[in-house]
Amino acid sequence: MNPYVLIVEDEQSLATLLQYNLEKEGFRVGMARDGDEAMMMVDEEQPDLLVLDWMLPKVSGIEVCRRLRGRADSRNVPIIMLTARGEETDRVRGLDTGADDYVTKPFSMTELFARIRAVLRRIRPGLAEDRVTCGDISIDRVAHRVTRADVDIHLGPTEFRLLDYLMQHPGRVFSREQLLDAVWGSDVYVEVRTVDVHIGRLRKALNLKDRPDPIRTVRSAGYSFDIDSAKAA
Ligand code: CA
Repeated sequence: MNPYVLIVEDEQSLATLLQYNLEKEGFRVGMARDGDEAMMMVDEEQPDLLVLDWMLPKVSGIEVCRRLRGRADSRNVPIIMLTARGEETDRVRGLDTGADDYVTKPFSMTELFARIRAVLRRIRPGLAEDRVTCGDISIDRVAHRVTRADVDIHLGPTEFRLLDYLMQHPGRVFSREQLLDAVWGSDVYVEVRTVDVHIGRLRKALNLKDRPDPIRTVRSAGYSFDIDSAKAA
């Protein structure tokens, strides 16, 4: 699943510009115009990263940062702070705000994306890359293309997200419920058995002559992407 970035910025033209560029880079984007809205949106869906403006109406960026850091569920969410030149920059630089990094306005998109990728890479390796390869299987998140041993594999959108998620955590076993939450979303009602159906389709699509099944069924636990069998090919 593409990383979800929450933009918290009251300056509409900048917010729109950020949204446009982030979506073009393959991120899913949420927008909040003030601190209260930001907190509500974090409750709805935990972002993979926040781009947080320092100066916001009502609750300031710094206060949002503090509140997020004070909660168990959002303590580790990466935050990149946007500041204007002269806006308490020294304090931000000291990062006593709890932010992971900061960018001073005006900034170029290239600069911001470099920071975003650096932060995501540090916190969730594999998440920020356009291409992920495990053994003989590669996925290209931008082109939505999957290959195995250089053969094109055609997947439906759900199978693509499922494979993408499993490949982000090779070797880790996920229960059907965890896969439902991660791939379908926690507010969508889908029967647990649906996961088996899509795993079945994914397996069938990835099944090439002489190549082992990369998806391991763990009895009474769930599924994992088995990097060794993919490598053995
Ligand atoms: Ca502002």
